[in-house]
Amino acid sequence: MDITGSSAIVTGGASGIGAAVARALAAKGATVVIADLNAEKGEALAAEINGVFAKVDVTDTEQITAAVEAAAEIAPLRACVNSAGIGWAQRTIGRDGQVASAHDLDAFRKVVEINLIGTFDMTRQAATVMSRNEPDADGQRGAIVNLASVAAFDGQIGQASYSASKGGVVGMTLPVARDLAASGIRVNTVAPGLIDTPIYDAFPDPEQFKANLGQNVLFPKRLGHSEELASMVVECVTNSYMNGETIRVDGGIRMP
Ligand code: NAD
Repeated sequence: MDITGSSAIVTGGASGIGAAVARALAAKGATVVIADLNAEKGEALAAEINGVFAKVDVTDTEQITAAVEAAAEIAPLRACVNSAGIGWAQRTIGRDGQVASAHDLDAFRKVVEINLIGTFDMTRQAATVMSRNEPDADGQRGAIVNLASVAAFDGQIGQASYSASKGGVVGMTLPVARDLAASGIRVNTVAPGLIDTPIYDAFPDPEQFKANLGQNVLFPKRLGHSEELASMVVECVTNSYMNGETIRVDGGIRMP
């Protein structure tokens, strides 16, 4: 599917994987709407790639509506990438040396609200706008790509809410793809392993933490680069024969 001259929307596009995706979609000829909470980084990136920044909290359905309508006014919206997300690490109960406190329900709800429900809301609203597009020769009107995580399959200590939210994204990928096929819209999910992004900045010693994490990867023994995820996301957008799939990009982390 050719996205030249189209618009694209990337949630979480101000940072990390989303920012790499925004650059890659712009390089493919799309005008990218960066939908993110972080105005400073979002506006800087929008200026760099000739895109547009839209301040969007993916838990606010009206802000999503405004962003997808703004994208469609620029050009037909043909790509939507759901990269907005937060991590969380708290044990289900009790305390231990690594995980500070128990997982309270408010924290659990917040992670699910952003990572899962935010992804679904953007998906349904983007699909509504995409369904108005003229189909290409293949009958395609658009493509949606979600970012899940290997935590959907291999959740670690403290990841109950994060794994539940990402497992939900994996679970909805195929049914949503089935729902949207009749409208000419494909849906795929990319599940990253450990990727070197600002998501780890909140840790006390992020560089040491990331170096240690890299040792868990089969090969190469390092964290992944955002660009290595972005290229797979772009493949999911542009490859007209990919639909309903979840693809891991993780350096073989489940194999060591
Ligand atoms: P990041 O922290 O660099 O970027 C996430 C972006 O999402 C930020 O710009 C942030 O402002 C935005 N965001 C957060 N909450 C939002 C909200 N409510 N509304 C709109 N924007 C919001 O993180 P990243 O590493 O690039 O992660 C991107 C996606 O990939 C996330 O869904 C994350 O869960 C997933 N992922 C990351 C890794 C990793 O190791 N980095 C691994 C697996 C999955």
